[in-house]
Amino acid sequence: MHFALSALLDVLYPPLCLGCGLRTHTGDLLCPLCMAELVPLPLTAAQSSAHIASLACACDASMMLVGWEYDSGSVIERCIHAMKYRQLYRAGEWLGRLLGERLVGTILLDGDPLLLPIPLHRIKRIERGYNQAEFLCRGLAAECGLEWDGGLLQRLRYTTSQSASRLDRDERQANVRDAFAVDAARATTLGSRPLLLVDDLITTGATIGACADVLVQAGFTDVRILAVARPPRH
Ligand SMILES: [Zn+2]
Repeated sequence: MHFALSALLDVLYPPLCLGCGLRTHTGDLLCPLCMAELVPLPLTAAQSSAHIASLACACDASMMLVGWEYDSGSVIERCIHAMKYRQLYRAGEWLGRLLGERLVGTILLDGDPLLLPIPLHRIKRIERGYNQAEFLCRGLAAECGLEWDGGLLQRLRYTTSQSASRLDRDERQANVRDAFAVDAARATTLGSRPLLLVDDLITTGATIGACADVLVQAGFTDVRILAVARPPRH
């Protein structure tokens, strides 16, 4: 009912551009001018290697791609903020579709990987009401013809928010260490299927790196990483 009501409200009150606040007429959540401000990152094997090499921790991911460059005050920052903190879960699905359009045919989707949203701890999920990474996965899945799974990877500890906190690199790694676990029964049914971890924003990569490592330890040999955005220093 919650989502049906949301769809009805969209008809009665057409969405406003997440970038500039003007009404959008195309069904997109960004107007054409704000869309043109997005800074796409290359979706190539060379860029994948560069992303992995620049992660703060050595992790066992086999590939990693990022959609757009993230800057303070940028359009993509406003999109991610809307999706995470303004209850605009629809923005997550739309961003997932936008990213999916660019990803079709890239190396990241070879072998039809199973999409895995980075899980929220159940208490945080109750506080926010939804996991924004699941909505990214829904959009990606619809656009790319893939499946997503919200049960394989679990978050055991309620960790401090990575982006909001001012932890240094070692503190961040300690913060996420042992925070994730794999559902062993579910893992058995998946065999050696390639996995694609999905998150909104990667800063140091400590969180998503910890997820990749726990999946590799559970026996998955091809664990890939996808994020909507990443700061340009990488
Ligand atoms: Zn706009």
